Amino acid sequence: MRPIIRWLALVALAPLTPVFASAQELTEPEHRIAAAVDAAVADGLALLERSVNINSGTMNFDGVREVGSLFRTEFERLGFATRWIDGSEWTRAGHLVAERAGEAGAPSVLFIGHLDTVFETDSPFQRFHRLSDSTAAGPGVVDMKGGIVVMLLALQALAEIDAVDRLSFTVVLTGDEERAGRPISLARRDLREAAERADVAIGFEDGDGDPTTAVIARRGATTWRLHTEGRPAHSSQIFREDIGSGAIYEMARILTAFHDSLGGEEFLTFNPGAVVGGTTADVDAEEGRGTATGKMNVIAQTCEVIGDLRALSIEQRDRAKTEMDRIVAEHLPHTSAKIIFDDAYPPLAPTEGNRRLLAMFDASSRDLGFGPVEAVDPARAGAADVSFTAGLVDMAIDGVGLMGDGGHTVDEIADLRTLPIQAKRVAIALWRLSGE
Ligand SMILES: [Zn+2]
Repeated sequence: MRPIIRWLALVALAPLTPVFASAQELTEPEHRIAAAVDAAVADGLALLERSVNINSGTMNFDGVREVGSLFRTEFERLGFATRWIDGSEWTRAGHLVAERAGEAGAPSVLFIGHLDTVFETDSPFQRFHRLSDSTAAGPGVVDMKGGIVVMLLALQALAEIDAVDRLSFTVVLTGDEERAGRPISLARRDLREAAERADVAIGFEDGDGDPTTAVIARRGATTWRLHTEGRPAHSSQIFREDIGSGAIYEMARILTAFHDSLGGEEFLTFNPGAVVGGTTADVDAEEGRGTATGKMNVIAQTCEVIGDLRALSIEQRDRAKTEMDRIVAEHLPHTSAKIIFDDAYPPLAPTEGNRRLLAMFDASSRDLGFGPVEAVDPARAGAADVSFTAGLVDMAIDGVGLMGDGGHTVDEIADLRTLPIQAKRVAIALWRLSGE
């Protein structure tokens, strides 16, 4: 049984009507927050359908901007000042930023989402399609236009009880989460600047699709490219003192040493994704293809490997890089080697602060009658934009958006019953945070 189905069976959810009226643990304002979410769900679903029906594949810049302007209106309605940040410097559409200052000294909260999807204009998957009372399919419905609607419902519910001023909000909706622009330092400059000003970061991705979990740690993603060189000669002379071992043995030595030295460490993975070698060799990492020439009776002159490296903390990542550098530098006779790393996404480590924020989210969920929320196993959580807040905010959590299944495939399906549930959990956790 899929986790979401098991969970829904457990808590015996009714359809999209006010539920859990029997929740005991909420205060009177919290009851009003929950009721305000219920009252806004129908409008939220209509907004979700409209947003999904606008194609916003990462490379469809007009579509990304159009989805941005649809949501922009909604944030402005809630009193946010908004601006569009042009993305031409990193060859993408850009980002939407919305801000609303609260009372002096109010905790500062950063909401993170993205406007783009993996479904470009040539995808067959283009429309929102209601499958049943409680489910709908559509490109980006959970990854993550649904998450943006969760943000809006939570904010609206806080506004409904005049509590929105108790917090300062910044919302950053990137236009290139699925295919980040380069250089990444520019593409995520505005997100990092917002994180520097924030105390708390909340990402509205769909996480692992399971409403009993949220994400407090994500492994980072680094890519690497390894190049070896050897002395070309007739194969019959390999290992001779003045000829050496050749580029391919040097590559094999390095990869085997990576495997033996670093393999098996918890949360650390490194994978050589493609290898080409011979007399000539070249890999195009962007295109994911390579070419090589060589003969059975000639010692290889060159070899190239592209791969990635995932780690749970900056310390773990940097320790692995140091060890890989050390291995690369050893060299078989008459060979040379060089490795270049490119840090794409930083790791989000499971800090004490992140655990505290999860505990607040978990308590809100229990008090609402929705059961406990636990941390996703970080080995199952990929890199995401919330990772750019690592080390900059006191507390961060992700995966609190609309839940469902099949993200990044034409079978992407949302469980619409989780829309009010997630919005209530977020709104009540924020309400409690604002009173601390
Ligand atoms: Zn996403």
